[in-house]
Amino acid sequence: MQFQHVRVIQGSNASKFPACTSLLIDDGDAVAVIDPGAGPGALAGALGNREVDMVINTHYHFDHLSGNHLFPRARVYMNPVEVGVFSNLGLVGEWIGIREVFGEEGVAGWLKTVARPDSPQTEFSPSSRHEWWLSTRAPAGSYVYDRVWEIGKTRVVMVHAPGHTNGFCCPYFPDEGLVYTGDIDLTGFGPWYCGSDGNIEQFLLSAQRVARLDAEWFVTGHQAGTVSRADFAGKLEQFLEVVNQRQERLMGFLEAGIQPEDIPSHGLLYPPKYQVDPWVVMWERIGVRKHMAFLRKGKGDGN
Ligand SMILES: [Zn+2]
Repeated sequence: MQFQHVRVIQGSNASKFPACTSLLIDDGDAVAVIDPGAGPGALAGALGNREVDMVINTHYHFDHLSGNHLFPRARVYMNPVEVGVFSNLGLVGEWIGIREVFGEEGVAGWLKTVARPDSPQTEFSPSSRHEWWLSTRAPAGSYVYDRVWEIGKTRVVMVHAPGHTNGFCCPYFPDEGLVYTGDIDLTGFGPWYCGSDGNIEQFLLSAQRVARLDAEWFVTGHQAGTVSRADFAGKLEQFLEVVNQRQERLMGFLEAGIQPEDIPSHGLLYPPKYQVDPWVVMWERIGVRKHMAFLRKGKGDGN
């Protein structure tokens, strides 16, 4: 879909994780790609022979930054909370959950794994992908949240929307009436806040705030694609309802006498068949911890 200065680039495999939908800004003055995770083929098809001046990441997750290395001549911009990953990849290990579940040695081992192009891969997550390393080699600058940023002639506001990660934000184009909602993605899986830096309550508040932006079109980062304002409200409600469904399942497990430490094996967020991948195991455990805290606080801070 093409807007005034912005084109939506559908990712490979319907932008399913670990691909994502990317945005191309081309207004005659600047060429910028936001979250270049659509895949090399999709990006090349959309770009043609254009030279990319800027790569802009909404947050540090693999699917949103793994394509940075495809544009070695572009300037890279990340949000101010997470820009440190470009000089210290170990921060990913901290925020995504490795340190919380596997300790400092886990982080050190992970850094060695991703530095090698030939590391064996895990089954359901991009945990060991070399693009983690390749795509964080360039020096990166940071943008400012919640203020008009002019990219060539194109105005964008990087709306801070913490919860998915601490630094997560949604690029909002006031002149196009368009917002890229990224991982507020309306998928059947539901909201994802399973990194150490995720926060259930903030996710809910941020999603509701993004829905109130003065936009006609909401571009999700995965699967659902470009959704009209009228459709977005209803779909968002269903998407956020998954949090309550998880909470109800959790209470059911506890009432059945299942100990909190045994809940991950029942699959509160991830069905057990996926829990053969170390990162899925990690995210399930962290997700259960966050839901336990959310329950104890009666909608506390979910952290
Ligand atoms: Zn993400």
